[in-house]
Amino acid sequence: MVIGRFAPSPTGPLHFGSLVAALASWLDARAARGRWLVRIEDLDAPRAVPGAADEILRTLDRLGLAWDGEVVYQSRRASHYRDAVERLRGQTYWCGCTRREIADSSLGLAADGAQIYPGTCRSGLTADRAPRALRVRTTDGEIRFEDRVQGPQRQALESQVGDFVLLRADGLFAYQIAVVVDDALQGITDVVRGADLLDSTQRQICLQRLLGYPTPRYLHVPAAVNAAGAKLAKQTAAPPVNTARKEEELRKALAFLGQPMTADLAEAVRNWNPALIPAARAALAP
Ligand SMILES: [Zn+2]
Repeated sequence: MVIGRFAPSPTGPLHFGSLVAALASWLDARAARGRWLVRIEDLDAPRAVPGAADEILRTLDRLGLAWDGEVVYQSRRASHYRDAVERLRGQTYWCGCTRREIADSSLGLAADGAQIYPGTCRSGLTADRAPRALRVRTTDGEIRFEDRVQGPQRQALESQVGDFVLLRADGLFAYQIAVVVDDALQGITDVVRGADLLDSTQRQICLQRLLGYPTPRYLHVPAAVNAAGAKLAKQTAAPPVNTARKEEELRKALAFLGQPMTADLAEAVRNWNPALIPAARAALAP
């Protein structure tokens, strides 16, 4: 059975970009008569906005995007992430580098704009350096996968990303480990999300392999950007989805996904055709 999910961060109300991701994953799961789960990615407590998770859930409900089962909150799942990190012992090491040191020693920028970590602390920390972040050792074999919309993807982690962080300097589990553990424990078969996360998929596949988890199918829809090319987000003042005009919001989201326009969700499920989704990493929001 297909199990899909929508995993918003509660940093603000649902905006057009997150509506597109929610709608695409909902349609993909419903068209396969599968289950659709909602997970609130509230690991980064300082960035979480009080009430935002409830508001996102209310918006989904008003739009008619019903979810199955209980909503999962990452902030309550630290023990699962701790277990996984423990199982990776032997493939991980403590890094004592500061942000500044990483920028100075970086091999350049990864596709997602982060500094490529050159493996400075791989052979151990000297006595004068305190451990800051826990990293997982990468290798340079290419990790490849076939995205259902974006096509074949490849990335050599060691040279294009570097050993990446599982436990952050601020004590929080990193997004990559949390998402891999949750997708596995929730039995997710199909990840449908915005293409701003396309280049983190290989890190997730790397962790799935190290932890013995299956790799789900991936479908990345274009990320909705504003006229300046910036991803819609609270920081870019993206307007919230207006549920008082939900038919119009749904039509716009379907058009963005290349699907026939309708305000009837049952019809949208019948029409759902991922082959019509533009194979672009980003597209202008209406
Ligand atoms: Zn380091």
